[in-house]
Amino acid sequence: MRRRFALVLVFGTLYSQLLAQATQTPRSEPLLGFTAQSSAQEREWEQKFKALPSPQLMRDYMQRLSARPHHVGSAYDKQNAEWILAQFQSWGWDAKIEQFDVLFPTPTFRLLEMTEPTRFTAKLDEPALAVDPTSGQKAEQLPTYNAYSPDGDVTAPLVFVNYGLPADYEVLERLGVSVKGAIVIAKYGNSWRGVKPRVAWEHGAMGCLIYSDPADDGYFEDRVFPEGPMRPKDGVQRGSVMDFPHAYPGDPLTPGVGATPEAKRLDIKDAKNLAKIPTLPISYGDAQPLLAALTGPVAPKEWRGALPITYHVGAGATRVHLKLEFDWKLRPVYDVIARMPGTTEADEWVVRGNHHDAWVNGAEDPISGQVALLEEARALGELHKQGWNPKRTIIYAAWDGEEPMLLGSTEWAETHAQELQQHAVAYINTDGNGRGYLMAEGAHSLEALVNEVAKDVEDPEAGVTVWNRLQAHRIKSAQNSDARAQLRTRGDLKLNPLGSGTDYTVFQDHLGVASLNLGYEGEDDGGIYHSIYDDFYWYTHFSDTSFVYGKALSQTIGTTVMRLTDADVLPYRFSNLADAVNDYLKEVKDLLKEKRDQVQEQNSELKEGVYSAINDPRRPTVAPTQEQVPPFINFAPLENAADALAKAGGHYNKALTTALNSKPDPAKLAALNLRLLTAERLLLNEGGLPTRPYYKHMLYAPGLYTGYQPKTVSGIRESIELKDYILAEAEVPKVAKAVSDEAVFVDGIAAELEKVASPAP
Ligand SMILES: [Zn+2]
Repeated sequence: MRRRFALVLVFGTLYSQLLAQATQTPRSEPLLGFTAQSSAQEREWEQKFKALPSPQLMRDYMQRLSARPHHVGSAYDKQNAEWILAQFQSWGWDAKIEQFDVLFPTPTFRLLEMTEPTRFTAKLDEPALAVDPTSGQKAEQLPTYNAYSPDGDVTAPLVFVNYGLPADYEVLERLGVSVKGAIVIAKYGNSWRGVKPRVAWEHGAMGCLIYSDPADDGYFEDRVFPEGPMRPKDGVQRGSVMDFPHAYPGDPLTPGVGATPEAKRLDIKDAKNLAKIPTLPISYGDAQPLLAALTGPVAPKEWRGALPITYHVGAGATRVHLKLEFDWKLRPVYDVIARMPGTTEADEWVVRGNHHDAWVNGAEDPISGQVALLEEARALGELHKQGWNPKRTIIYAAWDGEEPMLLGSTEWAETHAQELQQHAVAYINTDGNGRGYLMAEGAHSLEALVNEVAKDVEDPEAGVTVWNRLQAHRIKSAQNSDARAQLRTRGDLKLNPLGSGTDYTVFQDHLGVASLNLGYEGEDDGGIYHSIYDDFYWYTHFSDTSFVYGKALSQTIGTTVMRLTDADVLPYRFSNLADAVNDYLKEVKDLLKEKRDQVQEQNSELKEGVYSAINDPRRPTVAPTQEQVPPFINFAPLENAADALAKAGGHYNKALTTALNSKPDPAKLAALNLRLLTAERLLLNEGGLPTRPYYKHMLYAPGLYTGYQPKTVSGIRESIELKDYILAEAEVPKVAKAVSDEAVFVDGIAAELEKVASPAP
């Protein structure tokens, strides 16, 4: 899956200014981690590489891979895996399929009807469209449903809960509306979809409907498919509602170990990551009659969508009946794993992946990313034939089972966990692609590398580098002048931290492998996500229709892979990581202050009688209650650790430059790299985050109530958000220890780098 953004920006004359001041790395300056000599060689090979990816071939691959529905367990899913395998082999890779058997339920019965005040039965069907040739493949399409919803048969009053997030339930409380025993209806968006049934369950609801409001990805945004790119009336977003943020991603029955034939499996009833209440996604065609029948308080302005109705919250006399049954079967997933062995440092692995399974035909998600991956692999194979020999081992992976919830990647990485912890240098993920700006998320030790690569790739539309275009985009959308000043003066654009919702999760959060998630996005609005209309017809009419951004993505990632593979010293830069830690430290300190101010203000207002004075007797609201003002927290251990990491990062940068200028001994560097690649592992804590031990990284995690969006230093930040200040304070030393261990490690490597440098003449 891949969350979609709708970004509209007007640039005016900015491009021409940028053209004038394009800041490409001077060709003479060595690349990060390379000596001057190896840098020059590297650039020559990269130039050859960048000419190879072919938009026409990407289009051909997409047409082949999205020709039929290819979800987990389908015939075409397996055929695609075999076809991808054959491509890798024909390009000279040592490739094979690794199979895992995972729990993947599909629906056997779905019913949604309104029983009061009038009768209405939901259609739960996406119609075929005459112009769209693959939309009519009814026999092979999965019905519209949410995977890992439990079976259930519930009749209950209906309550509209906006996006169904914790803050929405606080508003409901003010309105005096309870969801206890009710079925809630939430809008899609603003979070990972599985958060919605989770929060509904926490508040006592018995069922959950999730619908796509036209305000978010329908006619309010643009014309609907097939006239335009947006979601038509009966279009439905399928998707997983596995509760991975609170538990773990991957096969529900084999947490922490690969779902191999010999693996010990849990009973289904003991799996911790299944949704708790029956949940069903619906179209706005099916949602409108239900929402129109609601009474009770009128929904707050910010809650209303674009349907031609008055949005009420409920709960009045409106009752709905939801009945769902699934076949809880094990099904095979087929990961295609291709290797190009390294020469001098073969025990160091650079891993690159994109999933191949889809909810239906999945041209955009995931094939638009998969075709870029395939062209990288073909081009690297071609370079190899021309005499390029990667120093390190390259592993390309086409994952299966990502859509149900990262099944193929998680089970593979759990199976190979020990090897990955010893050998993995980095993992680079994509999950679809479109037109627009570089989307760059990842571990901050890789921030400098991504910036350097982005300065060497040309944007196909703007005539500037993709780095320049991203900088321009960020300047235009910056919140304030400080942010703009930083964007103009800091050498590197910041990477966004990783949340979840795609295949990097096990690598970054569970195993501590520095990971990246890259793609182009921001210019293609669309409303076909996880529907039968995400297909070749839609993609070639409304997205990267000439596949020029597919080529840009291949160039971006292929170059990143080559640098990670060929560098004399692995191209991490820890001063960037130290900056990120300092940012997060400041954010959690500000968050605590904000919480204190908020509670103090609310308590004052209660004392002054503000709530009773402004209450409208015809639209009464419930006042909040007095709260304890949050205590101060001692952040000193983390402040000291962050300081130490900043110093170590500076030391490392200096030592690296000196070492690379000194004709270092390759054997000494190889030994050092083998240690250096474990740097990210030190940021793990074996006990993991509070309440979710699977997530071991102390800096990055998916938010408990956001899912896609990260919560950095989650142990501290989310404990403050959940008002558990004692836990937040107890987490400070845990994070501090990870950061401080990292500082000691980086400082130690810097000292070793000083030894590989021959003395100055
Ligand atoms: Zn995807």
